[in-house]
Amino acid sequence: MTPSPPQLASRLRGLGTTVFAEMSALAEATGAINLGQGYPDEDGPAEVAEAAIAAIRNGANQYPPGPGIADLRLAVAEHQQRFYGTTLDPDTEVLITAGATEAITAAILALCEPGDEVLCFEPFYDSYTAAIALAGAERRTVGLQPPDWSFDPDRLRRAVTPRTRILLLNSPHNPSGKVFSDLELEAIAELCAERDLIALTDEVYEHLVFDGHHRPLATLPGMAERTISVSSAGKTFSFTGWKIGWVSGPAPLVAAVRTVKQFLTYVNGAPFQPAVARGLRLPDSYFAQAAWALREKRDRLCAGLVAAGFAVHVPAATYFVMADTGPLGYLDGAALCRELPRRCKVVAVPAAAFYSDPQAPTPLVRFAFCKRPEVLDEAARRLAGLRTIASP
Ligand code: PMP
Ligand code: GLN
Repeated sequence: MTPSPPQLASRLRGLGTTVFAEMSALAEATGAINLGQGYPDEDGPAEVAEAAIAAIRNGANQYPPGPGIADLRLAVAEHQQRFYGTTLDPDTEVLITAGATEAITAAILALCEPGDEVLCFEPFYDSYTAAIALAGAERRTVGLQPPDWSFDPDRLRRAVTPRTRILLLNSPHNPSGKVFSDLELEAIAELCAERDLIALTDEVYEHLVFDGHHRPLATLPGMAERTISVSSAGKTFSFTGWKIGWVSGPAPLVAAVRTVKQFLTYVNGAPFQPAVARGLRLPDSYFAQAAWALREKRDRLCAGLVAAGFAVHVPAATYFVMADTGPLGYLDGAALCRELPRRCKVVAVPAAAFYSDPQAPTPLVRFAFCKRPEVLDEAARRLAGLRTIASP
């Protein structure tokens, strides 16, 4: 008889990544436009792609050094200096990882003992739950409330226990598109210092900000010494499949993450590492233009969703917009997401996949707008049919 798989696998079912895969398969089967899983439908800068091709031709095809190639670590340090005024030692305070996903998992595994608690905001990116479970730690959450996705600072304070080890902050935030304000960051920083927490920040959407500005938590007074900052190249350069990410922070914490990381993937993406170094050194105009182009896409899809009858929470950043299906007569966004591909050949993901209880119905669904304008227009045209198709 086949031994039954351990509990962990079944505990992780129903999270975003499994739902995205299910929805992407449904999109494929029905020929629907896929506004579910967040990836662009156009490649990033040609010169960055050319740098990867050149690297392959020039023999960057064997294991790179464990912490990542020196030039990419230097480029990350230069990037942090240029955009945030942070000075890092590329040899001891920067580590290259297999995307932000590995960086976050390695950090949680490195810094948590079984039974420790990791505090994060809810809704949350799904890999956090998996990483916390792998570490044998416990997840505690504090809710972000629409429409502005604000949180109650007293609740946050009360959620910290003697076992809390890490406060995990994702800003700009997936799935809400929220950028945490200076005031909110100050409250979080104060709490981390007061309760001696390590901050772990997921900043993969750092350059995709339309309203407001992104301020890394590590730049707040007293936070550099207790923050592990994580980002990656996928979103900034529209190469989500390359999976090059990085960690920066104080040398002892980065060393701990490096120790775990070397037994997860050891190394990855040899030819992509020099290419990402090239990308990180692109002029400011590249980063501004990338955000500007995406902002137009956000506005385009939001207008289309409103015309189709959704109530829209306009995101300040990221690839995603949360839409409320209530005005269309749906109280369960997950049920609508299952029907959408067949009803109007569009795929979205249920916001429920980003909550502690993925079975609890919420009328919110998440649409990705990192697609060509004509694709967004066609999706909006199809969704406009929803109102005329009788709802249950
Ligand atoms: N964090 C968030 C908030 C994300 O949306 C994603 C999805 N791409 C990741 C981390 C993972 O990033 P990467 O592909 O670099 O592993
Ligand atoms: N981060 C992407 C999203 O939120 C998807 C990545 C994945 O499928 N794991 O849609």
